[in-house]
Amino acid sequence: MSRLNNSKHAKTSSLIFIYRALKIVGCGPKTPTRKYTVSSMRDALLGPNNGTNFAHQWNNWVPIKASVLAWRAEKDRIATRRALSYRGVPMDNTRCPLCGDYDETANHLFASCYIFHLVWQHISNWCKIHPFFVFTTRDILEAHTHINVVSKKKKIIQAIILTACWSLWKARNEKIFEDKEIDLSTLLEEIKSLEYTWIKNRSFLKILMRKDWCTLDL
Ligand SMILES: [Zn+2]
Repeated sequence: MSRLNNSKHAKTSSLIFIYRALKIVGCGPKTPTRKYTVSSMRDALLGPNNGTNFAHQWNNWVPIKASVLAWRAEKDRIATRRALSYRGVPMDNTRCPLCGDYDETANHLFASCYIFHLVWQHISNWCKIHPFFVFTTRDILEAHTHINVVSKKKKIIQAIILTACWSLWKARNEKIFEDKEIDLSTLLEEIKSLEYTWIKNRSFLKILMRKDWCTLDL
């Protein structure tokens, strides 16, 4: 396949990936003729006036559901207690179910809550990079862009972060709906194991060995 065809193929793959993501979140692009175009997809993702807005980087080494969760979290469009209360859903309280010290917002959960903070610390150690200094969900989702490593490792670190967000949100839901306590070491192992499965099946790292993954010796 020629370089030009490779480029077209990559763009087409990206558009298909974004289109599927939009279908999942139920905000498919609309034009007067109802045709799907690059600009209508971009506007649906970022809004029509997105010059200064955050541009979520999709990563095809994790399932779309994980990318969509992170994208929604950055926009504070996940069902946190305070978001539900704001939308008129009766709530006993809006406190974080994990720490109980602050209102549960997406930014609190993904950037400030102590259990999430410990996970980010562990991941930075595991990835052999400087600790994340994050204050918002956006900071977490952009963290890989500030790391001075080769692009392949940046994509791996981004995939790990997206997987961690997915696993943390799942653990938070299990705490609320099943009264299941979060065990940090179990959670960390789940994140490593889940991302190992995802990245092995979705990337070119198909011969990745488990022992190399555990030390991130890629
Ligand atoms: Zn908390």
